[in-house]
Amino acid sequence: MAQNDEFLMALKAVNPVESVIDSYVQLKKQGRVFVCNCPFHSENTPSFTVFPNTQSFYCFGCQTGGDVFNFIMKAENLEFMEAVRLLADRSGMEIPETNNQGSEKAKLRTRIYEMNRLTANFFYLNLIKGHNKSGLQYFKDRCLTPQIIKKYGLGYASNSWDELCRMLTSKGYSEYEITQAWLGGTSQKTGRLFDLFRNRVMFPIVDLSGNVIGFGGRVLDDSKPKYLNTGTTPVFDKGSNLFSMNFAKNSSSRQIILCEGYMDVIAVHQAGLENAVATLGTAITPNQARLVSHYADEVIIAYDSDSAGQSATRKAISHFTDVGVKTRILRMEGAKDPDEYIKKFGAQRFRILIEKSRDANNFLLDRCENDIDINTESGKVELLKRVSNVLADIPSSLEREVYISRTAGKYNFPADVLKLHIDNILRKNKNTERKKENRTIYTQTVMAKDEINPEAEIFRKESKAEEEIISFLMRFPEEIGKIIEKAPADIFVTPFNKRVYSAILSNIAEHGEFSLTFLNSQFSADEISRISGISAKKQNMSLTRKSFDDCVSVLKNHVEIPKDGIISDDELKNMLKKKVNK
Ligand SMILES: [Zn+2]
Repeated sequence: MAQNDEFLMALKAVNPVESVIDSYVQLKKQGRVFVCNCPFHSENTPSFTVFPNTQSFYCFGCQTGGDVFNFIMKAENLEFMEAVRLLADRSGMEIPETNNQGSEKAKLRTRIYEMNRLTANFFYLNLIKGHNKSGLQYFKDRCLTPQIIKKYGLGYASNSWDELCRMLTSKGYSEYEITQAWLGGTSQKTGRLFDLFRNRVMFPIVDLSGNVIGFGGRVLDDSKPKYLNTGTTPVFDKGSNLFSMNFAKNSSSRQIILCEGYMDVIAVHQAGLENAVATLGTAITPNQARLVSHYADEVIIAYDSDSAGQSATRKAISHFTDVGVKTRILRMEGAKDPDEYIKKFGAQRFRILIEKSRDANNFLLDRCENDIDINTESGKVELLKRVSNVLADIPSSLEREVYISRTAGKYNFPADVLKLHIDNILRKNKNTERKKENRTIYTQTVMAKDEINPEAEIFRKESKAEEEIISFLMRFPEEIGKIIEKAPADIFVTPFNKRVYSAILSNIAEHGEFSLTFLNSQFSADEISRISGISAKKQNMSLTRKSFDDCVSVLKNHVEIPKDGIISDDELKNMLKKKVNK
């Protein structure tokens, strides 16, 4: 039993799971529980459920679950002790010494956060007070105010080979730590540490909790690459974070402006719109789209007006549509990006432009005309095909009707021909989708093994009974005496459920109540998810003494297949194989 359980329970008491989760995603009350679209997988109908009575959550879609600590671990990509520390810091509680130890990996992450913060500060002071004024001049030329430079913590990395590495080394950071943080590299020739960012203006990337997780650096001369971003480190994954999301998430507008570059975001921010974000040197990923969907219902895509920007726009529209976020497209006449537009025409005109931005369907429809001559017969056919594909992708049928009649009118297409063509596409899409779905069901039932409790696939009836007994115990901990008497742990058939049952029994014996938190030291995150699932699924079922007794008899009547009572791994594998071959 982990020490300081009392501390963990006190920490949980001041951090109710529903209010902690609500600070990440918008929860909707539904009877005694709260629901929302799952932050951990893409969905349009909410299956993520928060249970205030058991202080736990469970997603019926991706089967992730746990308590407040498991949520923070998953949402912030932290280990258990780091999650505890985050909640303790947030609520001003001191962690008892014995509990204040993490794994090596967690320690390295803490060190990297510290180094990043020191480095950001080092670059900032270098920009403001350093001898070389070229970085500051760059930002001045871009019309940035000292306030915005400070707010974003912008900086300058000198044209020196090892200025930063020397500073970090002098503060006690090792070569290993510095290279793991992606702040320095080791020269293959000399074996010496050198700075990775040199003669660049620096943009710190800050996560939603306010940690500096990485940097983007832009050159001041013609050297390559123009932009250099922190690579993957233990605290940074460029595909899952967005520049300036830490500011944008606080904006009350439920609208996010997606820009291409850091300078665009900062220019838009300085123009008074704090809800702008940018990807970190890559095209937008499904993960980033999902992150945005937690804070916005609508995204305005403000990518460059060049052809690369336009094709990136198309991709972004598709990722956002997948997570149920509406998109509008900003069309900037006379400027290639928001930064240039604001400099040329001012903040006020830019805000008007935002209000007037067109929805994504119009953008995609207009693009259909590109590189075809619509005055020729073949051009018309091609155009009809292209617009039909766009129109077929509009999810709402009502909206689709509106666009169909508008498009038919615009190009003089007979509306019924256009509609027929679109219906064909929809039918075809539906068939492919159904095939895909069938394949998924097939792989889930036949191919995929239950990795957490493999025996449950063989002993379905028994494992169901076990889960019900476990739920009964969770629900009525005060009856532990009677429960043990009727259902001692050794009647359990599947090893995983037996482990869970025994652990909960000893927790209740010790604490007089059941809490997922007590299980964290003995079970993996996936196992905790499964246990939350057992607890969640039974919340609405009536657990009666009669059904409990029935479950006990199922287990007692279970006949062991092998004579010695122990199922070997090989036997288990064979049984599973037979199951699959049937
Ligand atoms: Zn989920």
